Amino acid sequence: MSDSIFEKIIKRQIPADIVFENDDIIAFRDISPQAPVHVLFVPKRRFDTLNDVPDNEALLLGNLLLAAQAYAKSIGIAENGYRLVMNCNSHGGQTVFHIHMHLLGGAPLTGGFA
Ligand code: AMP
Repeated sequence: MSDSIFEKIIKRQIPADIVFENDDIIAFRDISPQAPVHVLFVPKRRFDTLNDVPDNEALLLGNLLLAAQAYAKSIGIAENGYRLVMNCNSHGGQTVFHIHMHLLGGAPLTGGFA
């Protein structure tokens, strides 16, 4: 299977504005921001969709949430609030098939997000 665009970012083969990284997770600014803060939290190990994540990866998914929470606190948007989104497959609007969670914030968010 060829590398996803996010694997290329993880391997530093293409540039990204990386804001957080540890052994399991990388986070970088979305290239097409939908809010003043729009960061993608990405597990370094690839699962194409949320449907592909097995039961024994609950810790990874939890750590993804906690990484976003910590980042939101660190940049001062946590108190006002933010939105976390994971899109799955076509009806969810998923376009990159390497699971990722959107952190959106920095201003009041209107209705939907696609
Ligand atoms: P989704 O529609 O949930 O699969 O979201 C994929 C997101 O990845 C979109 O918001 C894109 O703007 C974003 N994206 C695609 N390519 C890049 C890239 N090279 N660097 C940063 N964000 C990207």
